Amino acid sequence: MVGAPVLEDGNLKVGHGGNAGWGTGGSAAHHYAVWPRLHENDFKVRSTYGRGLDWPIDYDELRPWYDRVQAAVGISGDAASEPWRPPGDPYPHAPLPLFAQGEVIRKGFEALDMRVAPIPLAINARPEGQRAACLYDGWCDSGCPIGALANPLVTYLPKAFAAGAEIRHRATVTRVLHDAGGHRVTGVEYLDAAGVNHRIRAQQVVLAAFTVQNARLLLNSRSERYPQGLGNRHDLVGRYLLVHPATFIYGLFSEETQPALGVSGGQLMCQERYADKQPGPGRYGSYQWLIAGAVKPNDLLGIANSRPDIFGPALDAFMRRAARHFGSMAAVAEDIALADNRVTLSVHKDAAGLPLAHCHHDITAPTLATIEAAEAEGMAIFRAAGAQECWAGPHTAMHIMGGTVMGSDSASSVTDSFGRCHDLENLFLAGPGLFPSSGAVNPTFTVHALALRTAEHMLGN
Ligand code: SF4
Repeated sequence: MVGAPVLEDGNLKVGHGGNAGWGTGGSAAHHYAVWPRLHENDFKVRSTYGRGLDWPIDYDELRPWYDRVQAAVGISGDAASEPWRPPGDPYPHAPLPLFAQGEVIRKGFEALDMRVAPIPLAINARPEGQRAACLYDGWCDSGCPIGALANPLVTYLPKAFAAGAEIRHRATVTRVLHDAGGHRVTGVEYLDAAGVNHRIRAQQVVLAAFTVQNARLLLNSRSERYPQGLGNRHDLVGRYLLVHPATFIYGLFSEETQPALGVSGGQLMCQERYADKQPGPGRYGSYQWLIAGAVKPNDLLGIANSRPDIFGPALDAFMRRAARHFGSMAAVAEDIALADNRVTLSVHKDAAGLPLAHCHHDITAPTLATIEAAEAEGMAIFRAAGAQECWAGPHTAMHIMGGTVMGSDSASSVTDSFGRCHDLENLFLAGPGLFPSSGAVNPTFTVHALALRTAEHMLGN
């Protein structure tokens, strides 16, 4: 089953098809388990650099929640070898091993005097409870079949079921309902798997339908009291949509790189370009390198997709060589929150007659300059590592964030720091849609830390 399509435009489209998921477990059921923390300077980009939006909390507020989630879920890594890492507890698992691809590319970073460290991965280095240890076979983005990777199907969902949670599989919430005064929500309407409409009443409602669908659901929940949609009195729902602008560097090396070995998210990381967000005129944004992801001939980030320009005998010759000598890495860069990057409702409708989401997303010149600088650096690193040939892929969007941003007041944000909607006291939102800024790190660890903080706040109140 797939969700309703999402329409897109802009000079860097959000890539909803590849960056979101649909079904039990949500987008994280197929995520890559790359779990770095946001840095301290990611939380105050408006007040420090005059760009985008500030968070209503800082790193020190979120740190204990990062620590608690990593203890509960398990992260492999080596905190001591990450000179850029903000303060936090050491990782509970040893780093995963380095394979040939990582060894080969590391030489290029060392030649340019850039430090690398094992990627912090929410993947078991050793068996833990019911979950197995990683086999390094690189099927992570297919939804790790043995439970070594921390996706919700093996982490929090079993605990939720044990506590009495019930899931209506393949159901789709279509509207959030509120009381006559418009101060509290009273439940939701949803379509079951057969398309039959239901209403369910609730004391508390948490929307966790990921970035774009959360915004669409609020906009589609129009009422007499809220003609522009729930939580949208100030025309903020859907705005400040964020991605991580990214570029991939590919190369062929004389050494055997064994590119199928390891995990999809990569073996090594480099955040040497993270701290200085404005390294020169006309540039803005941190970026990180994720190095030596395990690839198959034809998977999403696989070998064939690195050369979509060749066919027939040329592709055959390339694949035979690349299967043994391929290397790749990705630069993941910071976006700037812009009000005009937004989710709106389309005139086109889904099968149930509800307006589809339309996402507009542009990057501006300072972000483009950063991604171009990263691309040039990546090519230099691959040449220094001894690549016989190397090339860059097209600029692309990784991850989707923003659209229902948190903040300190209703005039500038949709929710407070716990994800509680400013306008409706018992309506909460969860997920990366809350992020006022993107940083340049993968968002899932931060999503978990925020969710745990919100859950305990709700229990305590
Ligand atoms: S490589 Fe990925 S899919 Fe394979 S066991 Fe490890 S985490 Fe799971």
